[in-house]
Amino acid sequence: NRRIVLASRPHGAPTEANFRLETGHVPTPSAGQILLRTVWLSLDPYMRGRMSEGPSYVPPVAINEVMGAGTVAIVERSDHPDYAEGDWVVSNSGWQDFALSDGKDLFKLSGPVLKHPSWALGMLGMPGFTAYMGLLDIGQPQPGETVVVAAATGAVGSIVGQIAKLKGCYVVGIAGGADKCRYAEESLGFDRCLDHRAGDFAESLKRHCPEGIDVYFESVGGKVFSAVLPLMNTKGRIPVCGLIADYNSTEPAVGPNQLPQFQGTILRKRLRVQGFIITQDYGHRFGEFFSQMSQWVAEDRFVFREDSVEGLDHAPETFIGMLEGKNFGKVLIRVAGD
Ligand code: NDP
Repeated sequence: NRRIVLASRPHGAPTEANFRLETGHVPTPSAGQILLRTVWLSLDPYMRGRMSEGPSYVPPVAINEVMGAGTVAIVERSDHPDYAEGDWVVSNSGWQDFALSDGKDLFKLSGPVLKHPSWALGMLGMPGFTAYMGLLDIGQPQPGETVVVAAATGAVGSIVGQIAKLKGCYVVGIAGGADKCRYAEESLGFDRCLDHRAGDFAESLKRHCPEGIDVYFESVGGKVFSAVLPLMNTKGRIPVCGLIADYNSTEPAVGPNQLPQFQGTILRKRLRVQGFIITQDYGHRFGEFFSQMSQWVAEDRFVFREDSVEGLDHAPETFIGMLEGKNFGKVLIRVAGD
């Protein structure tokens, strides 16, 4: 049983030295337990927060503890009445080949999702759920409104933009680089996608949002937010989902203090800015999301790109790359064959 543990806490961007691969015995289930074999491991930006101590919405991983993660796993052995060998489940079993569970944190996969089990970590799982609730419950997009979404080709952003299109909105994505922007326009069906690394990004955003911005789905922060804020319309909504541009920061941002401008805009434009943590705020509505999204997926309404890498040992470098925008789509590690 291979497992990747947190070896040390990063200062700034994580490095491979912060992780350690260990090998041990495959655990044996005792009464009421299930042995899970990881097939797909989900890598998500929130894991950066868990590598550090200090305030975050998820408790830190302890040093020498296995890195936590959502997984899709197969039941290898079961001493639990509700699970049988060969069942597919979504689990929180982390960066390792095998794990034991008492069944309480498992979600059994059945029906069409079994055709593509990794979707349970993507558009039919936590990222899709985040997109759905953040956009629809907080953003409340109306037909004809302008919706801007950051990290537009990623797991969450790609679904946000596609739901906004279904709701009849004009959708502008923001992504890193020409390839991602082309993909957002040609494959995801966004009206526009703009490269946040381009020198004229702020002007270009203004030009392509001629009627201002009604909903900004925030996943990034930093320079992207500075370009969006002046374009927000009166009564605009900003679901604050993530701030990935700052996850590796070690110092407060330098430069002019933009807080008065930010608060002034909230006041004058009467903006609604609301943070949310998907599991804590919306855990009770997963069923509602899952049935609607499953229907849309069955109707082929969504495109969902996965960026999967073979082998548990590649998880650290893949995770580090995701925080730098090297991924193109939902980041997954294929740990074992099925
Ligand atoms: P993605 O698949 O979108 O991957 C992360 C992407 O962030 C990168 O590919 C990169 O895209 C972009 N990025 C990284 N650094 C920067 C930067 N400095 N400026 C602009 N963009 C940057 O990840 P997810 O879809 O899984 O997550 C997206 C966001 O949603 C994250 O902030 C995450 O923390 C948040 N989240 C929040 C949840 C909640 O409950 N609140 C739940 C799930 C996710 P590009 O190359 O296009 O710049």
